[in-house]
Amino acid sequence: MSQHRTLLRARRLLRDAMSPVEQDMGVLLYGGAIIDVAPYDDLRGVGAEVVEWDGLVMPGLVDAHSHLRGISTRRQGVEDAELERWVVRLGALTALDGRADALVAACDLLRTGVTGVLAVHHSFAGPEEYLASARAMRGALLTAGLRGDVVLGVTDAHELAPAGAVVSAAPPPVDAPALLHALAGLGLGDRTGDVRWATGPVGPQWCTDATLAGIAALAAEHGLRVHTHLMETVHQRDWVPDGTPVERLARTGLLSDALSVAHGVWLSRSEQAELAAAGATAVHCPTSNLRLRSGSAPVPAWLAAGLPVALGMDSATEEDGPDMFAELRAAVRNAELHERPGLHREVLAMATTGGARALGRRRLGAVARGYDADLVLLDGPPADAPDVESLVESASRHDVRRVLVDGELRLDDGVPAGCPEVDDLRAGLLGTVDEDEVARRFRLASLAAAEAEVGEALGALAGGPGARR
Ligand SMILES: [Zn+2]
Repeated sequence: MSQHRTLLRARRLLRDAMSPVEQDMGVLLYGGAIIDVAPYDDLRGVGAEVVEWDGLVMPGLVDAHSHLRGISTRRQGVEDAELERWVVRLGALTALDGRADALVAACDLLRTGVTGVLAVHHSFAGPEEYLASARAMRGALLTAGLRGDVVLGVTDAHELAPAGAVVSAAPPPVDAPALLHALAGLGLGDRTGDVRWATGPVGPQWCTDATLAGIAALAAEHGLRVHTHLMETVHQRDWVPDGTPVERLARTGLLSDALSVAHGVWLSRSEQAELAAAGATAVHCPTSNLRLRSGSAPVPAWLAAGLPVALGMDSATEEDGPDMFAELRAAVRNAELHERPGLHREVLAMATTGGARALGRRRLGAVARGYDADLVLLDGPPADAPDVESLVESASRHDVRRVLVDGELRLDDGVPAGCPEVDDLRAGLLGTVDEDEVARRFRLASLAAAEAEVGEALGALAGGPGARR
């Protein structure tokens, strides 16, 4: 944290999603916080070092659902498919150095103006290996200088196919009690760099009730926030016979205001109201929902139900890197499908204050007195956008020039300060991916039978009452 006062003079300032764009403004920073926001002329005499920005300053963005994949699944030859088939295909991915992969992902997030992230960690490995890869993910966020939560995701049942179905490529059994016990070894209260641990089922339907209750107990004991995938596809409501995913979260003590849920495409009206009443946050992932054929989330209905909404990219990135502005546009287009055009402000609020809520951080998501100094500095033509609507429609990650997190310059002229060699790191990962291409094709081919089995099992579900909403 910077110990001297800095006055950032912005030619244009967007304080938050609901404000107009203002001209020639000053943002006074001290000790990682914003201590004043006012017209520059009112602040020029305060005795601070002045930094001029001939562009637009806006609040840092929050990616509220990520898997911190530095190399996209498509770049690894895993083509998009219906979620359940795609999950089988993920078994063919090339094993990459976890820290390098997550560090490339974190730097790419900075490059698109993301300052806070909710990152899901999950592995079918034993506790020792699981802890090592979770630490690597957290270390990547600390090195890049992002803030956020690393979610210790747990899965122990029916991961690939509904209860009762037999799938030949099923992952090895997970000893969930041993894993939950081992997680305490991570130092769950550590808040260094504002990177915190969180936990959650990867999806409620992929856990036994005992494991869901164990996760709730771990979260309660250590004061952790909880994050899960929820009702991502139509098949998940009837994945297990003894309760819907929302019922099972509720009865095991996981439904609370500490909870955020990703996707939610198939939440019923009453489930939306139940989540809203509990104070939970829904994380909308429009690009991922489209690419994995999950469906279109009825987000205008969520807003009408009073359900707080954040925005997540779900690591569903194109080969040339993630673009949070493209995700904003995807959310606007998704709302149009539900006959609510022009939701630009609401969508930007999802990616700022909504994300802050998903992270359980109150002082994020706005350029306002008392807030954390997480700022994005844009230049190029979109920096001249007269309002939020045209900014959302025209900006891209290529307009992001500088990013401050906690008052520190974490991205300068597109270069991440914590990892200036990130492009070499990416080249190394791509080299590993390319060397593995032939072997990976064989692995993918060998998973085709399992994919077909999963498809058959889904067909049995989709024909039943499970397709109800
Ligand atoms: Zn996800």
